[in-house]
Amino acid sequence: MRYQSTRGAATEQKFSDVLLEGLAPDGGLAMPEAYPKLSPADLQRWRTLAYPELAFEVLRLFADDLPADDLRAMVRRAYTAELFGSADITPLRTLEPGLHILGLSNGPTLAFKDIAMQFLGQAFEYALERSGSTMNILGATSGDTGSSAEHAMRGKQRLSVFMLSPHGKMSPFQAAQMYSLQEPNIFNLAVRGVFDDCQDVVKVVNSDAAFKARYRIGAVNSINWARIAAQIVYYFKGYFAATRSNDEQVAFAVPSGNFGNIYAGHVARSMGLPIKRLILATNENNVLDEFFRTGVYRVRKTAEVFQTSSPSMDISKASNFERYVFDLVGRDARQLAALWRQVETTGVFDLRGTTAHAAMPATGFVSGSSSHSDRLQTIRSVYETYGEVIDTHTADGIKVGLAHREPGVPLVCLETALPAKFAETIREALGIDPERPKGFEALESLPQRVTVVDADAEAVKAFVAAHAQT
Ligand SMILES: *Cc1c(COP(=O)(O)O)cnc(C)c1O
Repeated sequence: MRYQSTRGAATEQKFSDVLLEGLAPDGGLAMPEAYPKLSPADLQRWRTLAYPELAFEVLRLFADDLPADDLRAMVRRAYTAELFGSADITPLRTLEPGLHILGLSNGPTLAFKDIAMQFLGQAFEYALERSGSTMNILGATSGDTGSSAEHAMRGKQRLSVFMLSPHGKMSPFQAAQMYSLQEPNIFNLAVRGVFDDCQDVVKVVNSDAAFKARYRIGAVNSINWARIAAQIVYYFKGYFAATRSNDEQVAFAVPSGNFGNIYAGHVARSMGLPIKRLILATNENNVLDEFFRTGVYRVRKTAEVFQTSSPSMDISKASNFERYVFDLVGRDARQLAALWRQVETTGVFDLRGTTAHAAMPATGFVSGSSSHSDRLQTIRSVYETYGEVIDTHTADGIKVGLAHREPGVPLVCLETALPAKFAETIREALGIDPERPKGFEALESLPQRVTVVDADAEAVKAFVAAHAQT
């Protein structure tokens, strides 16, 4: 499998090359040259595989430059019952016939990002070991991504994590998930400022090419192809769990922000998994819903982003969306690059009347958005009808999913976080505290390890220089 950039550079890269890279040199995103196509016999064989074996089969199509035994060992270490609470890894719960929740959030930080991040941790350690080098991951987080990355990289050889978070702005639960880690390769930097200040510091540090090269600064952001590849797996797992035979179709409802999760569903569908609909749900930040309804992609300014009760979907633009549009324009990199130049200068592009717009219906996407009151209402009705407490993001997905439900087509709603992470809104909706999974009872009272810093790139550079892997 060779990779190319959405903006045109024919890079001839392999999986192990794109694994450690952020953006392609031309500013685009890495894409496989073609999606692998599965035969009915492949699907039949995969139906009964355990999660790690299924992950191996899927990932090996995209990572064929890695020795098969090494890849198998990596997924076996990443997807254990110990880390994910059950051998199923992503168990399917049936609310009623034809309506299911796919539990993607039983990993160490109780959000779906753990699934990709645990694989990334294994893959990074493996790649660094093979090349005999080291890496220092620098990132900014408002909550979920940072803790998921830290839990995946904790104790890894040749790899340190420097994670910037807004001082005093995260929930005590989120802060404790990160700050309670005691591994010496994990560094929490609480920045006096807001999330945007953290992100700006990361940008400034990354713009210093000499510093970046000297300290081998890496990233774990959601555009990383290996994260996408690892997320394709659970669409297969969920499909097999919700159906009895491979001539059935299903719909997936996906709470969406940066378009990484649902784009993985698009890849699974393109590979031949019988997905009838990919139902995209946004919160009040409805950039993507607007696009799928109108054909107009209009990014928001930072000041236009609403802070909502499903905060992991509060986005101004959707980084992985470029990959989907690349497919829509028939993989014409010049056309794609022109569209993104237009977004950069005018904040918008309009596909109406183009062949790209005409290509959209065949991709199976439909969309909708959800508000705070929809969220509360959905949490209440799922609790009252099925006795299940769901988190706020999952509620957005279920709300929009039910609006697009079709008779005879099983609806699989992706659970992207557990309610314990968003206790305040659960209390508002139900008047009760969400249950805490075992092991999390006393999280906030564990000793914490964090350094408070100013929103100053030079100070952060000095800290990294003093503590980096050499
Ligand atoms: C990251 C996240 C999302 C959004 O996923 P994307 O891949 O960015 O679309 C949804 N829900 C939760 C809980 C998340 O952490």
